[in-house]
Amino acid sequence: MPHTPSCTAQKTFDVAIIGAGVVGCAVARRFALEGARVVVIEKGGDILSGASKANSAILHTGFDAPPGSLELEMVRAGRAEYLAIRHSLGLPLVETGALVCAWNPAETAKLEAIAAQGRENGVDGLRLLTAAAARATLPGLAPGLAAALEVAGEHIIDPWSAPLAYLTQAVMLGGVFLRNTELIEGAFAGDWTLRTSAGDIRAASVVNAAGLYGDTVDRRLGLPAEFAIRPRKGQFVVLDKAAFAHVPRIVLPVPTEITKGVVVCPTAFGNVLVGPTAEEQEDRVRATVEAGTLRALLQRAAEIVPALAGMPVTAVYAGLRPASDSKAYRVFARPERRAITLGGIRSTGLSAALGLAQEAVRLHAGFGLPATSRPPAPEVRLPNLAETRPRDWQQPDHGEMVCHCELVTRREIEAALDSLVPPGDFGGLRRRTRAAMGRCQGFYCQARLAEMTRGRLSTPLAVEEAGS
Ligand SMILES: Cc1cc2nc3c(=O)[nH]c(=O)nc-3n(C[C@H](O)[C@H](O)[C@H](O)COP(=O)(O)OP(=O)(O)OC[C@H]3O[C@@H](n4cnc5c(N)ncnc54)[C@H](O)[C@@H]3O)c2cc1C
Repeated sequence: MPHTPSCTAQKTFDVAIIGAGVVGCAVARRFALEGARVVVIEKGGDILSGASKANSAILHTGFDAPPGSLELEMVRAGRAEYLAIRHSLGLPLVETGALVCAWNPAETAKLEAIAAQGRENGVDGLRLLTAAAARATLPGLAPGLAAALEVAGEHIIDPWSAPLAYLTQAVMLGGVFLRNTELIEGAFAGDWTLRTSAGDIRAASVVNAAGLYGDTVDRRLGLPAEFAIRPRKGQFVVLDKAAFAHVPRIVLPVPTEITKGVVVCPTAFGNVLVGPTAEEQEDRVRATVEAGTLRALLQRAAEIVPALAGMPVTAVYAGLRPASDSKAYRVFARPERRAITLGGIRSTGLSAALGLAQEAVRLHAGFGLPATSRPPAPEVRLPNLAETRPRDWQQPDHGEMVCHCELVTRREIEAALDSLVPPGDFGGLRRRTRAAMGRCQGFYCQARLAEMTRGRLSTPLAVEEAGS
């Protein structure tokens, strides 16, 4: 069962992290590896209850990030660390590369400037291609292609296993993960006393990684109001696995000031993703999808790769970017309060998370706290869910198959339920195993899953929406 603050009542943690999105999970790992006693406070029933549950899963190079920005520095550091640790954590990398596609002379004219910015940003593997050369690497591109910029280093990862691996490593080092625990208020008097929905927690320092609630949490901690979150919705269509063969690379449009634009890209799970849109909204919770917008995404995908026309749709969803009133990441350290805010991590947080964690440790070193000694890094290997590497169902002794669409075995589900950071809700189980993520979206396996998870999820499957 999940920890509750009752088991932490007498303890003062070194670092309390608010939010178990990808950023909070990476921060927990990094501080735990430095020897700190960490606690992660998450108001949702599981990790990735906010922005981090729905993104495009691209490990960015930073080729189009603002030169000299903190975002660029974090993306580059985060990407480098992901590439360095992914083997030891069992995390996949689908080495697709990307093509920034220009469809008219005006867009073609911008490619050289994008390439120059990429080079200035220190990104290798940039190549301007004629339409024919681009099509040689992705034959399905529509005949209207004018030219393209190849960005060889843009890749696809598993956006859910990575943060899970980070937090698992922190928990193996003694870190405590508190779910269904909302930070209500914090007071600093030498140490922090954090009032949560599940009791008080004491910590020497605090890191705000609350994503869509970054500004609210700063206020609740009594920190200066430096920024305001402006959620930006992105709707997606997930195409059937039959589409995968037609999209071996990430297809990017020439970006605008507001958004990286509608992307057509493969996923680590063997589907094709079309999206996201970029829509400002007030609501920080609800991310609805609209039929007209989804139809427009499908139409655009078919214009880019004609073979995608009429391809069956497996799922649709929307995510909310924790954008703010500025384009820049909103990162602040307040040594006098021993507080760090990692806010406004809008469109690149999956790539930048490990970099932001390094930055948080760097900023924390200025708080004047006694140094901790580094423990040996514990071994963590997450079960593979990527189609590009062997899955459990391919083993001769795989046993009962529970989800026939995504080929998920009973023992994979049991392993997730018995793991160090087990799922707290159905969404968490899906993200850890792929169960109910396929063509039937759980129509056939949901009853069996409800049976297997009885008493194991804080929100029982029967009362949750299947699409959550
Ligand atoms: C449509 C879309 C596409 C994207 N594509 C990519 C991509 O391809 N590549 C990439 O690198 N990035 C991408 N991103 C960006 C990336 O997903 C985000 O930058 C990242 O998820 C932000 O993570 P976070 O941890 O800061 O926030 P979140 O994931 O929102 O985590 C914050 C957590 O804090 C919790 N919380 C909030 N308030 C409290 C409280 N009071 N008490 C306790 N807990 C609290 C929330 O429940 C949540 O779980 C995309 C984002 C979107 C939406």
